[in-house]
Amino acid sequence: MYYISVDVGATNLRVAVVSEGGEVVERSSCPTPRSGNSYAVADKVIECINVINSNFKNEVKGLGVGTIGPLDIKRGRVINTPNNPIRNFELLEPLRKTFNLPIYVVNDCSAAVWGEYVWGAGVGHLNVLYITLSTGVGGGAVVDGHLLLGKDGNAHEVGHVVLNYRSPIRCGCGGRGHWEGMASGANLWKLVRQVSRATGFNISDRELAALKPEDVFNGWREGRSPYSEVVNELAMINAAGLASAINVYDPEVVTVGGSIALNNPDFIKLMIGNLDEFLTNRMPYISLATFRDDAVLVGAAAIVHRPPKHLLRIQKTASNISSFSS
Ligand SMILES: [Zn+2]
Repeated sequence: MYYISVDVGATNLRVAVVSEGGEVVERSSCPTPRSGNSYAVADKVIECINVINSNFKNEVKGLGVGTIGPLDIKRGRVINTPNNPIRNFELLEPLRKTFNLPIYVVNDCSAAVWGEYVWGAGVGHLNVLYITLSTGVGGGAVVDGHLLLGKDGNAHEVGHVVLNYRSPIRCGCGGRGHWEGMASGANLWKLVRQVSRATGFNISDRELAALKPEDVFNGWREGRSPYSEVVNELAMINAAGLASAINVYDPEVVTVGGSIALNNPDFIKLMIGNLDEFLTNRMPYISLATFRDDAVLVGAAAIVHRPPKHLLRIQKTASNISSFSS
């Protein structure tokens, strides 16, 4: 028995066949469409699924999607996303029209935390938090064994907590001093600019524009200014953000994923060392994401494997349908 899972990212669209033990057995990816109508993304998803599914046709028991947000979870569609010029796109409805299967659509971090809860570091625990440090900053939480969804499926937006309301740094969403606005891969250059100015270091706009997160972390490892100062500040910002999430959700287990975390475990260690300064709740167990780059793919399959009860109510689905047709 297998599940098809889909990770709709800002840049890439990934599709996998996942076993009922949470193992990815087949995968494919392509760029996420960035133009077209509100069905362009779903059309591409369907095309990818049809390619990858051929070997597993009769053994696939469901389809799970983890997507960038924000979501309208009742309709299973993405509303007004800042991360794709299409902005609004349908997922649940066109997929249901195409595939005769139980299908669920949740936010990518909600999927990832459910994957940890069902198959990963969260097994045996009731309170699990997943944080991604990547192009954006996001989170998903399981509290008392319950996947937090919220009224529209956006209960996870910890990236937009305000860490400094006086900060001159604006987030992609427009807000001031947001965790994501200062610490995400897409916004890191803003922190570099601010710290450089504060430490009297000259960095041109051209250098800033070409700067990748790896350059910043490598500069830090080599002890070079302004990157040492930037990364030390970033470790405090991330600690403040993560501690705030821990103080809100009180997890036993926290896993941290996303490219910034997965590529820089030494930085994550530095960040964890700063947590004490901000924590009021007892320190949880913290590790890197169990399924690494596949956190969302595995998590979306976990959503189908063991659907959260309230999600079943929200996205009513015929759970007795088991044949795969398109
Ligand atoms: Zn924001």
